[in-house]
Amino acid sequence: MSFDIDAVRAQFPILARQVNGRPLVYFDNAASAQKPEAVIEAMAGAMRGSYANVHRGLHTLANEATEAYENARATVARFINAPAPENVVFTKGGTEAINVVAAGLAMAPGDEIVLSVMEHHANIVPWHFLRERKGAVLKWLDVDEDGEIDLGALDALITPRTRMVALTHMSNVLGIKTPARRVVEVAHAKGTPVLLDGCQAAVHGRVDVQDLGVDFYALTGHKLYGPTGIGALYGKRESLAALPPFEGGGEMIDLVERERVTYNDPPHRFEAGTPPILEAIGLGAAIAWLEGQDRAAIEAHETVLLERATAALREFNGIKIFGQSQQKCAIVSFALEGAHPHDVAQILDRQGVAVRAGHHCAQPLMARLGVSATARASFACYNRLEEVDAFVQALHKARKLLS
Ligand SMILES: *Cc1c(COP(=O)(O)O)cnc(C)c1O
Repeated sequence: MSFDIDAVRAQFPILARQVNGRPLVYFDNAASAQKPEAVIEAMAGAMRGSYANVHRGLHTLANEATEAYENARATVARFINAPAPENVVFTKGGTEAINVVAAGLAMAPGDEIVLSVMEHHANIVPWHFLRERKGAVLKWLDVDEDGEIDLGALDALITPRTRMVALTHMSNVLGIKTPARRVVEVAHAKGTPVLLDGCQAAVHGRVDVQDLGVDFYALTGHKLYGPTGIGALYGKRESLAALPPFEGGGEMIDLVERERVTYNDPPHRFEAGTPPILEAIGLGAAIAWLEGQDRAAIEAHETVLLERATAALREFNGIKIFGQSQQKCAIVSFALEGAHPHDVAQILDRQGVAVRAGHHCAQPLMARLGVSATARASFACYNRLEEVDAFVQALHKARKLLS
């Protein structure tokens, strides 16, 4: 397979549009990625020709919809090399996947959760709930100036009271990948389970949950070229079996009586009510689409985009780039001296360039970096080198207007 950027772009209809009279340069992929025709068609096709509620039916359309929904689960399982589809719980996104685990974790007052300062709020706030409601203690792993974590420091934070190590597999602000396999080794050596937040990592590299040895892995559909409203939680069989259900309702039960209720097995135990059927089908299509591409070539391409952008930014006077690790991919956060990131983003938008500015749902990391916000350009498989040049040009203009 060769990587043909034009062929890839042609599959994303939105890339043909203009913004403010300029060709769209979409560098907000870490917030949400655009969707290929294959995803749009899979969802529209299901609505046009093969739609009903899942699981309960004894009629043809219900069976077709159930098969499509369960096929999507099998596709996610294959994508992350889970042992079986039953290891995959559909959620409404990455956030809910983490909440399912946090809400179900058995905690006594004083029990501890270890997390890093570069987590997304989705992997912070559910643990704060445990702090507020169950007296959990949050222990924070620092990152250095380059955004790297220290495994020795991780080891030192884990005690017999640590109930979970919850870490990102790739920072949505710095683009830095954490040494996930080593993290799992360090935690497991002390008998502590690990949850990895893979919302970014699953997009930019291969994930093998069995090779990682991780207990829980969260991912989201909409950053993976799939639709919103769908994500997945992987869990080891025994880890999912030990979790009480997150929400109550239809489909998650075994038996309901007046004085008693028993629950279905995982994964259905965690999927109360009518699930996001169309969204799951869309996610399955997104993954199938991605698996049909040359992923190594995509990774290499994204690295070239990042290197070109980083090299150009370094040429600027008075620009700060956050996180300079070797393990970095597809995301560059920066600040122009004397200019607010929001103003920078607005000026870029007038030139058709979409970047994000703000705290990126990572306020503890902002505090660690000593800023309140950054501007962030994030790349996807369909971005061109010429778009990096357009972004840099637009940034020069912003610098002129803002100084
Ligand atoms: C986007 C993101 C999340 C949240 O995922 P949603 O699907 O938007 O809920 C969590 N963690 C990281 C690292 C993310 O980038």
